[in-house]
Amino acid sequence: MSADAKTEVDGALAARTAELSENLTGLLARIEAACRAAGRAPDSVRLLPVTKFFPASDVAILHRLGRREFGESREQEAAAKVAALREEDLTGVRWHMIGRLQRNKARGVARWAHTVHSVDSERLATALDAGAVAALEAGERTEPLRVLLQVSLDDDPARGGVPAGDLPALAERIAGAPGLRLSGLMAIPPLDAKADAAFARLATLHTLLLADHPDATELSAGMSGDLECAIEHGSTVVRVGTALMGIRPITSG
Ligand SMILES: *Cc1c(COP(=O)(O)O)cnc(C)c1O
Repeated sequence: MSADAKTEVDGALAARTAELSENLTGLLARIEAACRAAGRAPDSVRLLPVTKFFPASDVAILHRLGRREFGESREQEAAAKVAALREEDLTGVRWHMIGRLQRNKARGVARWAHTVHSVDSERLATALDAGAVAALEAGERTEPLRVLLQVSLDDDPARGGVPAGDLPALAERIAGAPGLRLSGLMAIPPLDAKADAAFARLATLHTLLLADHPDATELSAGMSGDLECAIEHGSTVVRVGTALMGIRPITSG
């Protein structure tokens, strides 16, 4: 690389680092303010940066800025990023799969994911369990795969998520799976519903789940536009893309 080209690359890296650092500071302040407003401890809510559609180099920058958890929504893209960053030997990274997942991708995901937020059927749970058990036996992972049940808040199966009535049976199935660890609930509020009512319903369902599964304490709720509302209703992890990374280069998915 010529000296000029190197200066240009360094400049771009510095500019992106400054941008992500500024966005991160603003976002952490937003989360802290929301916790204060809700009367909750600031460390009761984690930020999960969603890096889908953004390059592995952005994940490396966020890692230098102290982040260790990252959310991805497409198996192929995520697997490529995980592999690219493995070369750089980033310490302590935990990858979260947050997007809809096809059963035939479950085996791959079970190799690299620390947590899957989008489990909404027994068939998918069974495939993930088999994948996680295989990965444990092969030494590709050291702990069971953490699983959150994605619940449908409008009971429209087309948008993903298990209907509320099917939650107890699915939770029972996952609690008995050797490769999985039932860790909580996740939801995306329906487009037409008021976020407040949707998150209130989610909180009720979480309370019911906790009665039978006291370790399922995670509540994955809230994104760039509605994280304050989700925190008010008990979210323990907010999944934030746009407000941290900027507008996605491609918006579908
Ligand atoms: C993309 C995505 C997010 C992040 O959404 P933003 O509005 O960009 O913060 C959160 N959750 C899921 C499931 C996503 O796919």
